[in-house]
Amino acid sequence: MTVDLSGVAGSVPDAVVERIRSARHVLAVGHENPDADTLGATLGVCRLVEALGARADAVCTDPIPPLYDFLSDIRRVRTDPDPAAAYDLLVVSDCGTLDRVGEVRERHRELFDRLPRVVIDHHASNDARGETDWIQPEAAATCEMVALLATRLGLPLDLAEGALATELMAGIVMDTATFAHPNTTPRTLLVAAALVAAGAPLSDISRRIYRTKPDAQLRLFGRVLDRLRTAHGGRVVWSTLSDADLVETGALPAHGEGIIDLLAQVEEADVAILFKEAGEATRLSVRTRPDGVDATVLTGRFGGGGHARAAGATVPLPLPKAVEPVLAEAGKLVLAVAR
Ligand code: 5GP
Ligand code: MN
Repeated sequence: MTVDLSGVAGSVPDAVVERIRSARHVLAVGHENPDADTLGATLGVCRLVEALGARADAVCTDPIPPLYDFLSDIRRVRTDPDPAAAYDLLVVSDCGTLDRVGEVRERHRELFDRLPRVVIDHHASNDARGETDWIQPEAAATCEMVALLATRLGLPLDLAEGALATELMAGIVMDTATFAHPNTTPRTLLVAAALVAAGAPLSDISRRIYRTKPDAQLRLFGRVLDRLRTAHGGRVVWSTLSDADLVETGALPAHGEGIIDLLAQVEEADVAILFKEAGEATRLSVRTRPDGVDATVLTGRFGGGGHARAAGATVPLPLPKAVEPVLAEAGKLVLAVAR
């Protein structure tokens, strides 16, 4: 069975299709601290470009968490562009702002400024408005958009014996929590159906991303959950993740992924916040209930962004000092929402 996406692929801007079609060597870049959506989209773009007969390199400024080893081409992702390459197009995937590309952009400022650019992203907070900035907040994942791009380029989704479909499905599974988040639309499910038909092992991908963890990671979850606190009459739930937690459990920083989604399960809370120590700064992860506080409003007060239900920011204060001002803002926002 195959599922035809041509009925929903019309939303890909012509300028994006033309740019990608005419590129000879693409530099495909995802965001720092990579997740399955940015990696799947970046690898997927490379695969599409190569299927068109051109060259592509995948770049992500940070090391790739071992969790993603099941993506067959993950080792092609490099931390820096190839110095010998004559790139003629930059494709940035899943970055709400260009800053999200991270330090690789500082290390290669001239290249990043010079290259013509295609942006593929689904963050509502993305304010890029150029002709080749393709921003679709209604897409559940950037990978959902890349599947449409493949169809617009006339390329099959079963490229490389299901490897493309697997990469794109990984991003969709990640950003929808396997179709459980309210960002899942009929189009998301249609794209997912097409990817399963093209060879993506949906159940295996979901198990690897959401239900497989090293024991150190579960110990880390235990510590952070044990420290759960509430504020504003229980409407805000929060916890902290410090460097000491990592040392004492033997977990890696990337193992903190997923804790925020457990905090967000607290029945009484409208807003869940995880404060993560990041040197002299603090990373925030925020989740909010449907019809409640817009998470991007809270993180926006601290220079961050994301989606209405899931957002993040970096607060330029050490963890013990970051908690109070963030909880104060969260309190104002929950009080403005009727229950
Ligand atoms: P998480 O809490 O899982 O790290 O991030 C949730 C969402 O917020 C993701 O979609 C991510 O792209 C976005 N996000 C996280 N941190 C930042 C940030 O510092 N700035 C912006 N603009 N978005 C962020
Ligand atoms: Mn995404």
